[in-house]
Amino acid sequence: MSTDCLFCRIVAGELPATLVHEDEQLVAFEDISPQAPTHVLIVPRRHVATLNDLGPEDDGLVGEMVRRAAAIAKARGIAEGGYRTVFNCNREAGQTVFHIHLHLLGGRPLTWPPG
Ligand code: AMP
Ligand code: ZN
Repeated sequence: MSTDCLFCRIVAGELPATLVHEDEQLVAFEDISPQAPTHVLIVPRRHVATLNDLGPEDDGLVGEMVRRAAAIAKARGIAEGGYRTVFNCNREAGQTVFHIHLHLLGGRPLTWPPG
C-alpha cells in the first residue's frame, strides 16, 4: 500500500469508487472519466507501479486481470461484438496513475490505431 497512490487508496476503501468486482487479488471499478459506454479499470490490490515492474511471479496476476476483463465484457454483453483492453506504460503512452491497471473499453466501435 502506497499512501500517495490513488488506486491503493481506492483498493483500501479510503476513496470512493463504483466497484464492479472484487476478489482476493483484484478490484475492478468504473473509470471516473469514461471514454466508452463500458470503461472499467481492473486493478491488482498490490501496488505495482508500471508493467516494467512485473516479474515472472506476477504472470498469474496478469492472467487474472485479463480474464477478469473478458468476464466483465461477457457480463455486459459486449464480448461477442468486441472490446479493447489497454495497459498504458509510462508517460509517452499516457499513463497517469502509477499503479498498474487494465482498461476495458467497449460498447461502441473503437478506431485503430489509437492516438
Ligand atoms: P492511465 O492514463 O492509463 O494511467 O489511466 C488512468 C485512468 O484512471 C484514467 O482513465 C482516469 O480517468 C482514471 N481515474 C483517475 N482517477 C480516478 C478515480 N478517482 N476513480 C476512477 N478512475 C479514475
Ligand atoms: Zn498503488
